Amino acid sequence: MANVAFIGLGNMGGPMAANLLKAGHSVTVFDLVPEAVQQLVDQGATSAENAAAAVEGVDFVISMLPAGRHVEGLYLGESGLLNVLNSSAVIIDSSTIDAATARKVHAAAAEKGIAMVDAPVSGGVAAAAAGTLSFMCGGSDEAFASVKPLLDGMGKNIFHAGDSGAGQVAKVCNNMLLSILMVGTSEALRLGADNGLDPARLSEIMLASSGRNWTLEVYNPYPGVMENAPASNDYKPGFMNDLMLKDLGLAMETAVHSGSATPLGAMARSLYASHVSKGNGKLDFSSILQSLGGND
Ligand code: NAD
Repeated sequence: MANVAFIGLGNMGGPMAANLLKAGHSVTVFDLVPEAVQQLVDQGATSAENAAAAVEGVDFVISMLPAGRHVEGLYLGESGLLNVLNSSAVIIDSSTIDAATARKVHAAAAEKGIAMVDAPVSGGVAAAAAGTLSFMCGGSDEAFASVKPLLDGMGKNIFHAGDSGAGQVAKVCNNMLLSILMVGTSEALRLGADNGLDPARLSEIMLASSGRNWTLEVYNPYPGVMENAPASNDYKPGFMNDLMLKDLGLAMETAVHSGSATPLGAMARSLYASHVSKGNGKLDFSSILQSLGGND
């Protein structure tokens, strides 16, 4: 069993750290919010005064922070963790951040002889609690092999996407595609309903036809079609529009870096930006269907 420091105990990090404790690892935690720390201490974690104290003598550091600037602040600079970590420790950053920042932290860690894996997740809060997240990892073969047993305690599918930053790129590719599928499925259901079709019957037809996709299979955006989908629960998340917009912004940044054409991704980003600007940030991302208006 490993000695792990876990930094960032929010909606995702809290349940992920709890699963590491359940798997029998020794976990030292730190977050800026004392209540978040206390919740983990109640489950058997050790608390630390600050991030530097949390990483003393650990085998792994896992960070689960809001954005790239938080990750950069945690590891780089004079007070950064790279200055206090043992070179035998391995960094796992599971935050969803831009690939350029991930690569920058990878490179700075490598200079100190410290291995790192960027390991963003797909699956949301429910999957974090159930230990069924998908991890998309970027880093060397050796670094991936060393973190895989630990990630197995928090996830179901652990992928090695490629070298440094590849996990972040895989994550934004997936979420960009997901947003496009959600908008497309919403449009098709809206068009059908506006022309007198029952959305449940239309969903059944498209599921058995070439329009079949994940949003129709498990996450139908039309209210009442799928009992357990957020659409049938006033669009309570699920996966918030705010987070989808964040990920689409990262996808667009990545596309600018690589000079890639992403016309539908850009359109989806713009649709989600408009939807969020109307006060829908905290609703589930399937609520994009509501932005299409309609005849009912
Ligand atoms: P959150 O805002 O709930 O949690 C972030 C935590 O980090 C907070 O508790 C905050 O206090 C802490 N924090 C910030 N800066 C810190 C610092 N310097 N030191 C210690 N703690 C610090 O966010 P979340 O929903 O848990 O998401 C975390 C990451 O996971 C984000 O990058 C997000 O995009 C990604 N993600 C979220 C979901 C989701 O459904 N919530 C799904 C997949 C990926």
